[in-house]
Amino acid sequence: MSTQPSRAIQTVQVSGPDGPVTIAAGAILDAMTAAQFAETRNQVTQSHLAGEAPVYRCGSCHGPVFVTRRGEGDGSNNARLHFVHYATGEPCEWRSGASKVVNIGGRKFDGRQEGEAHWNFKHRVAEAMACDKRISKIVLEKRIYGNESWWRQPDVSGLFGTRQLAFDLQLATAEIRTISGRNTFYEQNGIAHVWVVAPSVIDQLERQGFQDLYLKAGGSIACLTSAAMAMSRETAEMHLTNLRLIPRLGDHTIFCVWETDHVPIDALIGPIGNRAAVGMAHFGKRLQEQLPSEARHAIQQIRELVRGTPALADFAGEWAVVSKTAHGRSVEKAAGDDVHLAMQLLRAVEALLTAPNDAVRATCTDQVNRRLGLLIAARTAASWASLVEFLLRAEPELKAALVREHVTRLRHLQRYATRFHLVEMHARMLAVIFQRWAFGLLAQPPRHAPTLRG
Ligand SMILES: [Zn+2]
Repeated sequence: MSTQPSRAIQTVQVSGPDGPVTIAAGAILDAMTAAQFAETRNQVTQSHLAGEAPVYRCGSCHGPVFVTRRGEGDGSNNARLHFVHYATGEPCEWRSGASKVVNIGGRKFDGRQEGEAHWNFKHRVAEAMACDKRISKIVLEKRIYGNESWWRQPDVSGLFGTRQLAFDLQLATAEIRTISGRNTFYEQNGIAHVWVVAPSVIDQLERQGFQDLYLKAGGSIACLTSAAMAMSRETAEMHLTNLRLIPRLGDHTIFCVWETDHVPIDALIGPIGNRAAVGMAHFGKRLQEQLPSEARHAIQQIRELVRGTPALADFAGEWAVVSKTAHGRSVEKAAGDDVHLAMQLLRAVEALLTAPNDAVRATCTDQVNRRLGLLIAARTAASWASLVEFLLRAEPELKAALVREHVTRLRHLQRYATRFHLVEMHARMLAVIFQRWAFGLLAQPPRHAPTLRG
């Protein structure tokens, strides 16, 4: 990022090992990927709804803040990401006019038009459900009660065998509070729940409201297309069209496209966490498949080498091979950016997360801290802080493994916004070498709407 975005809320408070610390808003937002932005919005909202301690507080008034994208657009510019105060709360010098806006999901459509489309669509979902002999008791807009007398009113619901099954339709705008609240409710009450979009809105999937839905679900979103409807009738099993975000290795960069697949309802009703894991793994696999065998071989060699502490020069040849296909930076640039130190950390974190037992985990924890120590002592440390931030968000269990002095040092590095986020500059290479984080690093709304045939 070459320019420093101007934000009303310039610093935020986060909890650190020695109490709250204040860090630059840019240290959190500038290098945040689309997938992590959606995840963070969910996390912030969920903790707010649950009445827990805020994830982020305003650096000036210390009131709770949430994250939003201001305005419309292609969603690729992090300068539009902001921390915003909640509508209620203390007066604050950093409270701007725009911060009063709670729902930034997109412009509201004409109410009546949306109402009618919504009504029609609900009936189509009910119709698709009715094709399936396993689904019974289909009703529209009926309250479902959960524990502690909470209730939700899904657009359409029924029984799938003996299990409650609910559908909510997302037409044009989505509020993160609604999405997050419903996801939590259905999850906690063991109710199978699917968000469905209408074919008429699939050219609007770049809107933040939709991103909040599918990026949280590993890049997938269900759509009731006429093809899915026809399949539901033919097979006597309810089908939906599953839109999945996948990476495409282009001539100049790696971008995202939609892959469409018609699937029976069974495939869409697992817990959201599982669906997310499946989607992310699929994304990583699709990326690997597109690499020529020469690059895949070079990646294996790099991965083997970075278990130790090589300099970039030790795998310069392999880097060049991978870089050519994955549109990475030159060997010289990578060496100057200390990418080898970042990769040694990623490899150690990967080993920690897949450790088979406590003994191995203990060794891996030490290794992670040693590698992190090297990275945050490097000349480029401040520019790599957002990689560590990325990892802490992607892998919450990592937090407990890091030694206190490293976390303190990290927060210190984040006190001021940096102009260069090296995780952003090397995201493509890190994604192809570390498949586990490919989705988190590269997933973003495709420029083109999915093509729906049939
Ligand atoms: Zn404030």
